[in-house]
Amino acid sequence: AAVEGFDIEDVEGAIEEAGHGPLPVLAVVGRPNVGKSTLVNRIIGRREAVVEDKPGVTRDRVTYEAEWAGRRFKVVDTGGWEQDVLGIDASVAAQAEYAIEAADAVVFVVDAKVGATDTDEAVVRLLRKAGKPVVLCANKVDGQSGEADASYLWSLGLGEPHPVSALHGRGTGDMLDAVLEALPEAPAQSFGTALGGPRRIALIGRPNVGKSSLLNKVAGEERVVVNEMAGTTRDPVDEMIELGGVTWKFVDTAGIRKRVHLQQGADYYASLRTAAAVEKAEVAVVLIDASENISVQDQRIVTMAVEAGRAIVVAFNKWDTLDEERRYYLEREIETELAQIAWAPRVNVSARTGRHMEKLVPAIETALAGWETRVPTGRLNAFLGELVAAHPHPVRGGKQPRILFGTQAGTKPPRFVLFASGFIEAGYRRFIERRLREEFGFEGTPIHISVRVRE
Ligand code: GDP
Ligand code: GDP
Repeated sequence: AAVEGFDIEDVEGAIEEAGHGPLPVLAVVGRPNVGKSTLVNRIIGRREAVVEDKPGVTRDRVTYEAEWAGRRFKVVDTGGWEQDVLGIDASVAAQAEYAIEAADAVVFVVDAKVGATDTDEAVVRLLRKAGKPVVLCANKVDGQSGEADASYLWSLGLGEPHPVSALHGRGTGDMLDAVLEALPEAPAQSFGTALGGPRRIALIGRPNVGKSSLLNKVAGEERVVVNEMAGTTRDPVDEMIELGGVTWKFVDTAGIRKRVHLQQGADYYASLRTAAAVEKAEVAVVLIDASENISVQDQRIVTMAVEAGRAIVVAFNKWDTLDEERRYYLEREIETELAQIAWAPRVNVSARTGRHMEKLVPAIETALAGWETRVPTGRLNAFLGELVAAHPHPVRGGKQPRILFGTQAGTKPPRFVLFASGFIEAGYRRFIERRLREEFGFEGTPIHISVRVRE
């Protein structure tokens, strides 16, 4: 499409960039203190507060976007997390398992100065079992003299060890080149029904909101939940459940059922699990305990799903316990605390009584439909033309920026590129998003709008 004042290549490039599908996921795993967080900082190219000095400090951000040699991907950092009551091997294994599960490729970090330990060997066994591409990072090779240490790691049987100093940056470029070779262009969990597979649902929410109860209810059978130790029993991770005559895949249900009581890092653990489940899913059902105040933790979980660009349904559970007063206050809370997903379909359920279980599937279908909506370019521009004529952008510095042309570059979630004659203010962008939603629906889906400004 030719747009006044833009090169055709610029237009095509912008559409291609904005339309990128889901990004492949790289997990960085390894023992504590081998330098995972330092490496993640290198990879994402920011000196964000990823490295914490205090042990046991929990973070809930575990997924970051990165770019190397023009390719974008996501990085899952498993570094923010300490050995817990299960002991070092089980802890490392459990966290690595979640991360590997969600990943398309793995960077396995070993401290080259220390060499391979038994714990490292345990992770190697997990990696073999998972069968995902692995790049072996021999970290803390700060100078030439450390290269010999790195070469000992051939013994792990994971191929070439890449000598790296995450701290100083030495060797990280070569290692990232190897990562790009290992990483597929798009996630293996390819989206959509094109492959005919079942749609994937992540049931997420903070502890005790009723995820396990809801899963049992919808699966139509009560299961005994025992105090399992992580890593001792291997539950099937995903579960096929038939609802409304359709088979759905509930991803990472082992994470929902597993009752591991961690003394340290439990929040971090939960975040990692949530991030992993969201990465694997097309739609996230965010479960919230309606009997309690909506918390910051609930909001963080919502944010994870929004940032991952998944279709979203909000389910308020424990509705059986609500009295009139609580219902009144809940509505006020939803308006203020969950404004960022005011567009998500909502169901008020009770996993205990089974109330409104039948409304879950229609809500999920609505959200997936919104997520996959494509607006034809002609219709979009007719709409934009009317919108801009009726509500022009405010004049700034004697000039009036105009939207010249727009197109939907991608779906899952819907992504738009708008071409403009000048800088479009944030308020006007929000106004356009609101009007797009009013006009075209997009119920249950985040939408992305990027604006290209004529030079
Ligand atoms: P994590 O627990 O695996 O995430 O490890 P961290 O990234 O927190 O690093 C643990 C310690 O190792 C920190 O004190 C880092 O500064 C240090 N470290 C990380 N990478 C390197 C490196 O390449 N060389 C050296 N000398 N120290 C490093
Ligand atoms: P999870 O940690 O999110 O998996 O939560 P659980 O499913 O283990 O539920 C936590 C607690 O809430 C348990 O005691 C459940 O019996 C209770 N619970 C779950 N759903 C409901 C519900 O709809 N109503 C009531 N009253 N209690 C519920």
